[in-house]
Amino acid sequence: MKILVTGGAGYIGSHTCLALLNEGYEVVIVDNLCNSSIESIKRIEILANQSVIFYNADVRDMVSLENVFHENSIEAVIHFAGLKSVNESINIPINYYENNVGSSIALFNIMSKFNCKILVFSSSATVYGDTAMSPIKEGSQLSANNPYGRSKLMIEEILQDLYVSDDTWHIGRLRYFNPVGAHKSGMIGEDPNGIPNNLFPYISQVAVGRRKKVNIFGGDYDTHDGTGVRDYIHVMDIADGHIKALEALNIKSQLLTINLGTGNGYSVLDVIKAFESASGLKIPYKIVGRREGDIASCYADTALASSSINWNASYNLESMCKDAWKWQTLNPNGYQKIG
Ligand code: NAD
Ligand code: UDP
Repeated sequence: MKILVTGGAGYIGSHTCLALLNEGYEVVIVDNLCNSSIESIKRIEILANQSVIFYNADVRDMVSLENVFHENSIEAVIHFAGLKSVNESINIPINYYENNVGSSIALFNIMSKFNCKILVFSSSATVYGDTAMSPIKEGSQLSANNPYGRSKLMIEEILQDLYVSDDTWHIGRLRYFNPVGAHKSGMIGEDPNGIPNNLFPYISQVAVGRRKKVNIFGGDYDTHDGTGVRDYIHVMDIADGHIKALEALNIKSQLLTINLGTGNGYSVLDVIKAFESASGLKIPYKIVGRREGDIASCYADTALASSSINWNASYNLESMCKDAWKWQTLNPNGYQKIG
C-alpha cells in the first residue's frame, strides 16, 4: 500500500515513515523542509534499507500536490505537515492559519479529486484547552488557547464536516500528548531550531553541555511535587499508533478520534530524575515562575485507543530518556553535523 506522508522529514513523520517501511508500506514524502533536514530522509532510507520517494514541495502548492498524486497511486495519506510552536503562533497567527489550515484544505481537495479517502491527521491534546480534567477522554469539551491550538481545532472541525457530507471517507484524528524520545539507533530524532521550548530537548541540551541549566516553569502547582505533570509518550509508540489507525481505517469508513498517550503523568522533576539516571549525569535546574498558558496536569485516558485500534503505548519513561539521550549524544548539533 502506498502512503503519502506530508511532513515526513520532520520529527514524528520521520519515525512514522521508518515504521511504515518496516511494515512493508511504500512511502511518498512531501515536505518543504521549513522545519527539517533532507538528512533525516537519508537516514530513514539507511535504517529501512530501502528508498522513499521524496518531493521537496509545499502542501499548499496544489499544482505540485496534484503532480504527486498523478505520479503515484496514493491509497492513504498521513498528514503531519504544519507549524507547531505555540509561542510563534501567538506572534504570527496568520502564518499558522495559512500554513496549517491552508495546507489541509489543499490536501483534502486533491484527495477528493483523486478519490483517495483514507486520511490520518496529526491533532494534539492542545484541543482540550486548559479546563479538561485528567485523565482526559476524547469526549471532553474542546477549546483553544492560542492560534496553534485553534488551527488544530479548525482542521478537526473541517474533517468532521467532510465526514458528515460524505461518510465514505476513512478519517483518523489522532490527538498526541507529549511525543518524546527517538529511534533506538540514535540516527533520527527531534532537531529543534534555536532554543527549545519543550522540556525533553531542553534537558537533552543541558545534559550535553549546550545549555547551563533547566528552568522549571513553576514549583507551586497542585501536583505531587509542585511541578507540571504531562503524559510523555515515546515517538515510536506514536508511529505505531499511526499504523494501527491506518489498519483500522482501511477496514471501514469512519471518523475515528483518539488520544495517543500512555495514560501516565510525570512531573518535570520526575523527568529530570529519569534523565539523570539514563545519562549518568547531574542535570542542573532552577525553579522559576510559571510559563503563561501552562496547566498543572494533563494526561490521557487511553481506553478508546486500546479498544478501537488495539493500540497501547509500550515504552516507559526510562526508555524515552535513554533514546533521547542516545540521539543527543550521537548528534549533539542535530542533523547539522553528522555525529
Ligand atoms: P516537525 O516540525 O518536526 O515536522 C513537521 C514537518 O512538516 C516539517 O518537516 C516541516 O518542514 C513540514 N512542513 C511544515 N509546513 C509544511 C508545508 N506547508 N508543506 C510541506 N511541509 C511542511 O513537527 P512534528 O513534531 O514532527 O509534528 C508533526 C505534526 O504533529 C504537526 O502537525 C504537529 O502540529 C503535530 N503535533 C506535534 C506534537 C509535538 O509535540 N511534536 C504534539 C501534538 C501534535
Ligand atoms: N517545562 C519546563 N521547562 C522548560 C520546558 C518545559 O519546566 O524549559 C515544563 C512545562 O511547564 C510543562 C512541561 O515541562 O509543565 C512540559 O512542557 P512542554 O513544553 O515540553 O510541553 P507542553 O507544555 O506542550 O505540554
